[in-house]
Amino acid sequence: MANMSIQNLVYLNGSFIPIEDARISVLDRGFIFGDGVYEVVPVYSRRLFRLTEHLRRLQNSLEGIRLKNPHLDVEWRELLEKIVASNESDDQSIYLQITRGVAPRDHSFPEDVIPTVFIMSSPLLAPSKELVATGVSAITANDNRWLRCDIKATSLLPNVLLRQKALDENAVEALLLREGFLTEGSTSNIFVVKSEMLLAPPKSYLMLPGITYDVVLELAAAHDIPHEIRNVSEYEIRTAQELLLTSSTKGIMSITHLDGKSVGNGKPGKIFLQLYQLYQNYKSTVM
Ligand code: PMP
Repeated sequence: MANMSIQNLVYLNGSFIPIEDARISVLDRGFIFGDGVYEVVPVYSRRLFRLTEHLRRLQNSLEGIRLKNPHLDVEWRELLEKIVASNESDDQSIYLQITRGVAPRDHSFPEDVIPTVFIMSSPLLAPSKELVATGVSAITANDNRWLRCDIKATSLLPNVLLRQKALDENAVEALLLREGFLTEGSTSNIFVVKSEMLLAPPKSYLMLPGITYDVVLELAAAHDIPHEIRNVSEYEIRTAQELLLTSSTKGIMSITHLDGKSVGNGKPGKIFLQLYQLYQNYKSTVM
């Protein structure tokens, strides 16, 4: 339940402050170059979900941009738990960002610069029952992003444009195709069901290794849902029985329309319904 005495603080470079008071320099390399990485950690009933895995991915992203991790995992846990405690909602979406810091504008890495660390929380609103029951619409689009999509970089301009293209076409997500194969969504990972088999594109530099993606594959393995990790072609997407999207903020959703055409019978399918329920149960057991 919401606690109104809580102040909704953010964390910026050592201080817990109201967001209105949070200030960074216009020379921050996050602002100038998008030179930073981020994570989004879901919180259910005030518990950080899969924090160890999120911190491991953060470490990989930092190594990908050659930036030293400014905190040990125990320090991250402490900072994030303080943010959770100083925000009202029981279910939260924690956003954390690290940039290469403030320096005169120059592409080359600055020397001896302290990275900027920012953490904020927003209420985590689960997709409505109606949306879960009807499923969502998606479009396909050309994956025109760079070749290090495994790094959770703050420079998200291609993802922003792709997601807006989906919204402009009354859809919620863009399924990205690179050389005839599915990579992921603009803000989510994508699963495909073909001949009762759950298919997932393999992790590579072409997609973000989703934490929810891992949970879904673990649940499929634990509950004998036939699944395979392999490349999925555009043809297979267009003739799929089911399409699913996964992300920390949306959980699992069924895509029931693609480019204006029904996926299967246009309703959330059997495998979605099973995985959705398993995911809800799993979340409550780890709380
Ligand atoms: N791919 C992209 C491009 C994303 O932005 C996200 C997260 N919003 C995901 C996949 C899903 O990752 P996760 O399950 O860790 O949220």
